[in-house]
Amino acid sequence: MSVHPTLKLKPREGRRVRAGAPWVFANELVLDAKTKALEPGTLIKLEGDDGRKFGFGYFNAKSLIAVRLFETEEAIGRNFFAARLRRALELRESLYDRPFYRLVHAEGDGLPGLTIDRMGSTCVCQVTTAGMEALTPMLLDALDEVVAPETVILRNDTPSRALEGLDSFVNAVKGEGGRVTVEENGARYFAEPLSGQKTGWYYDQRDNRAFLAKLARGRTVLDACCYTGGFAIACAKAGAANVTAVDSSAPALALAEEAASANGFRPRFIKADVFEELERMVARGDKFDIVVADPPPFVKSRKDLEAGARAYRKLARLSASVTKPGGFLLLASCSHNIPMERFAQECAIGILRLGRSATLIREAGAGSDHPAHPMLPETAYLKALVYAVS
Ligand code: SAH
Repeated sequence: MSVHPTLKLKPREGRRVRAGAPWVFANELVLDAKTKALEPGTLIKLEGDDGRKFGFGYFNAKSLIAVRLFETEEAIGRNFFAARLRRALELRESLYDRPFYRLVHAEGDGLPGLTIDRMGSTCVCQVTTAGMEALTPMLLDALDEVVAPETVILRNDTPSRALEGLDSFVNAVKGEGGRVTVEENGARYFAEPLSGQKTGWYYDQRDNRAFLAKLARGRTVLDACCYTGGFAIACAKAGAANVTAVDSSAPALALAEEAASANGFRPRFIKADVFEELERMVARGDKFDIVVADPPPFVKSRKDLEAGARAYRKLARLSASVTKPGGFLLLASCSHNIPMERFAQECAIGILRLGRSATLIREAGAGSDHPAHPMLPETAYLKALVYAVS
């Protein structure tokens, strides 16, 4: 007997969930007063009007995605979390030799509302929904059982939590949570999981960093929006002739500088607004063989699409202006709210308007430690385009 409320799909509704998606929108559900009054994040069972069972999920009447499913009939407890974590860990251990990766990528790992980045013996968790918040104690028990990290940090300060009625906090629930080392593509970096951006490190660009590093030997490199030095240090390690890196964040640059020294390199770091610095470089006629522009999200919500698209176009134009003929240009977007086609179109217009020509040699997303649920292609947020520019 289940003590969990059963929610019903309206007749003929739930096309996506019937096809295998783990989401149900509010308008697809029978929402009587009793259902609407359920605590945000209540664990529920979902059924179709035809009696079809969709298993456990959680419900939030305040959220547009009212139900997120776990895609299981098994009770949601420590054992369930341990099994999902083991499955997630197995995938990463098949992909990587060292324990540095995104361990859990929400729906892509059957754990909606949760991401975990693993940096050796530190796990940094981000809980983004009321449903996952209520289950956090079970999750943390299971994480101890499966991974046994020395340090566990909750980086529960993502802005989207407010939409779920959750407060914003950062807390080391186990261990101290100071600086950690991240190993990636044979280089060593530093991250500050308590105070850095997001979880402290962007694993999503790992494969793109490796791709550019392969082109970097003997070439000059500009890493625009370098954060803690991801692309810059990968290229320096691969034998770049010299590396210049720009970011507006002083703490990020300080970590980048320390990581560069630890790897035995001395890139030139510039604290500046990326648009202003690129304008200065264009005015001076500075040029680089390889240019990376990996800015913060310009399209934070759908209403920002046009303004954000213009910003991507402008960044593409300025970045291409400082790319030498015969060089390579990587343009990235981490905005969920701009589709790949539109981003690629803005980048192309930005480059081609300069009278330059370019060919697209790589069209990529995040690495394989960021699996996407096959029915939710829109959750694959990262877009990275590499052009050979002439
Ligand atoms: N390329 C990085 C990730 C970049 S994240 C990596 O490989 O890890 C985006 C970065 O843009 C952040 O470090 C942020 O500090 C920086 N940023 C945000 N606004 C900026 C601006 N106006 N000018 C320069 N950098 C900016």
